[in-house]
Amino acid sequence: MSVSDYIPVIGLEIHSELLTKSKVFCTCSAEFGGERNTRCCPVCSGMPGTLPVINQTAVEYAVRAGYALGCSINKFSVFDRKNYFYPDLPKAYQISQMPLPLCINGVVPIDYEENGEKKHKEIRINRIHLEEDAGKLIHDDLNGVSLCDYNRCGVPLIEIVTEPDFRTAEEVVAYLEWLRETLQYLGVSDCKMQEGSLRCDVNLSVRPAGSDTLGTRTELKNLSSFKAIRRAIYYEARRQIERLEAGGRVVQETRRWDENKDASYPMRSKEDAQDYRYFPEPDLPPLE
Ligand code: ADP
Ligand code: MG
Ligand code: ZN
Repeated sequence: MSVSDYIPVIGLEIHSELLTKSKVFCTCSAEFGGERNTRCCPVCSGMPGTLPVINQTAVEYAVRAGYALGCSINKFSVFDRKNYFYPDLPKAYQISQMPLPLCINGVVPIDYEENGEKKHKEIRINRIHLEEDAGKLIHDDLNGVSLCDYNRCGVPLIEIVTEPDFRTAEEVVAYLEWLRETLQYLGVSDCKMQEGSLRCDVNLSVRPAGSDTLGTRTELKNLSSFKAIRRAIYYEARRQIERLEAGGRVVQETRRWDENKDASYPMRSKEDAQDYRYFPEPDLPPLE
């Protein structure tokens, strides 16, 4: 087979920070930036004995995004703890939503041009859930240390997960442009990629044209612009096809895009995938 005998299959996971004044479970400012560790309190820095209280506006913004993406709103949704140990997460768990997210089953129409031809297509949305952001690590290579800034801990996020409905980079960019414009118009997020208020992970596999079984996918991270997303999709589709053509197989793994090298590198494989030990958040009632 040749390169043109394969079709890429792509699904997106988008994180978008909500434009609320305060954080999702405490009253600290959710504004971007600020002197390091000045926008934190015992709740968002994970002190024992503190309790989260849900920010009503964050819920309203997530629901607003859900309606705009054609989702059904779950009148009953539940928060869960996603457990992992990393210095950017002082509680050692992130409050998120797993089996019962706020919004499900959406659809987004996209219009775009491909080779001078006008195209239309619908992208299915699997879910939108509400969660909290983690802090930021600042790597000081000069002194060989990493510093933690917890200002971003607890900033409200929505995660928007699509079905694997994209086939080209053009479709992905059309969807992202629509999504950015829509979330900005709704006042839900400012969607600034350079400030991290819109972040996109790309899941990509390839399969022979005509096949309807999904191939093994990789997940691409560290994509900081639409241009990087486009380049990373071309690169990854090509890499997977060349591998299959050479008689090899695609390894399920997370890969990091390196903008300067115009290439992606393995970060972690499926085998070292973490078990997040999800369980219902005992400190927050279900959201009705
Ligand atoms: P995880 O929780 O492990 O990241 P999900 O099943 O939630 O896995 O899928 C995450 C994203 O990957 C979704 O956007 C989905 O559409 C996409 N995806 C899943 N399987 C494939 C595949 N074989 N090829 C391309 N994308 C895929
Ligand atoms: Mg994922
Ligand atoms: Zn706080």
